[in-house]
Amino acid sequence: MNVATDFPLREYNTFGMDVTCARFVQIDSADEIPKMADLFDTPHYILGGGSNTLFTDYYNGTILHPAFGGIEMASQSTPTSEGTSSSSVLLRVAAGEPWENLTNYCREHSLYGLENLTGIPGLVGSAPVQNIGAYGVEVKDCIEKVEGYYTDTMQPFCLTSDDCHFGYRDSIFKHELKGRCFITHVWFRLSPQPRFTLTYKALAQALEGREPTLDSVAETVLAIRNSKLPDITQIGCAGSFFKNPVVDQAQHAALLNRFPDLVAYPTGDGMMKLAAGQLIEKAGWKGRREGDAGIYPKQALVIVNYGNAKPEEICNVYRQVIADVKDLFQVTLTPEVNII
Ligand SMILES: Cc1cc2nc3c(=O)[nH]c(=O)nc-3n(C[C@H](O)[C@H](O)[C@H](O)COP(=O)(O)OP(=O)(O)OC[C@H]3O[C@@H](n4cnc5c(N)ncnc54)[C@H](O)[C@@H]3O)c2cc1C
Repeated sequence: MNVATDFPLREYNTFGMDVTCARFVQIDSADEIPKMADLFDTPHYILGGGSNTLFTDYYNGTILHPAFGGIEMASQSTPTSEGTSSSSVLLRVAAGEPWENLTNYCREHSLYGLENLTGIPGLVGSAPVQNIGAYGVEVKDCIEKVEGYYTDTMQPFCLTSDDCHFGYRDSIFKHELKGRCFITHVWFRLSPQPRFTLTYKALAQALEGREPTLDSVAETVLAIRNSKLPDITQIGCAGSFFKNPVVDQAQHAALLNRFPDLVAYPTGDGMMKLAAGQLIEKAGWKGRREGDAGIYPKQALVIVNYGNAKPEEICNVYRQVIADVKDLFQVTLTPEVNII
């Protein structure tokens, strides 16, 4: 364990906010966590790669950063001659492992399931928190279980995928267990047999006429991402800043009358999910810049820091976007990003 005081966080958040924290604790092994009970009684925030976090000020508490990685192949099951069990591989991955290492590992070991999630920044321990998703796949589709400690009792837990109550960019870790648990390991069930999800139109189109492979899907996903999202080594951001809002059928019909080209997808429970990016664009924000803060010209869902934006400038942009979208559509956008 490494402890530092008055620690600068600029390198620990992809928005590039130049803030400090009172105390920064780097955790080098999951076994250290149950010995830190006192610390969990004081203000703290678990920070992975900081790619879904907006720091708005000095953090007067302890930042806990999992720095323990590792990918273990926990088990392999193969089909029986009767074909009763399907073949799969179980990986146990430590919270501090960069997500990119896991998707690379899957490519190297021919394991299918996470390829559409290639290129998402951050650490593995954060992936279940918001049930990361992209191009027709959500990580919940491959999560077998999540291990960690309840930080109020320091008791270990092991939650099945069902226990995690995964939803769209949502899970139990954002509700009942928010601020009450430390995820140490995530278990993934992956397929050693080719199995692709090509429901996302741009992905299917780009691969049309070719037999998909792990490499071609991952490379195509990366190409699509690079064409739409900023390079975080150059421009700060936290990916999609807002969730896609969900409205009922009546509100959707009323909006369609006013905006016939409105994009919406049924959620399966009678509700309709709107495209937040389209609402932001129609509200006139796509590409708009105020000082060093603004909305990315190629993707209206992304708030960016062009260099030295201060937290309050980023906050002004997101609040104005929410207000303008509300005025125009009577729809309230909610941030997907953790605002600290
Ligand atoms: C350019 C860019 C593109 C992106 N694209 C996507 C995308 O396509 N799809 C998508 O879903 N997201 C996307 N994101 C958002 C982000 O990368 C993901 O949410 C990612 O999983 C966050 O990981 P992190 O480690 O950086 O999280 P952090 O910001 O460090 O933490 C996120 C949350 O998880 C909690 N947390 C972290 N680790 C633990 C732990 N071990 N135990 C308990 N709680 C923990 C934190 O307290 C916080 O609440 C993108 C972000 C960027 C910058």
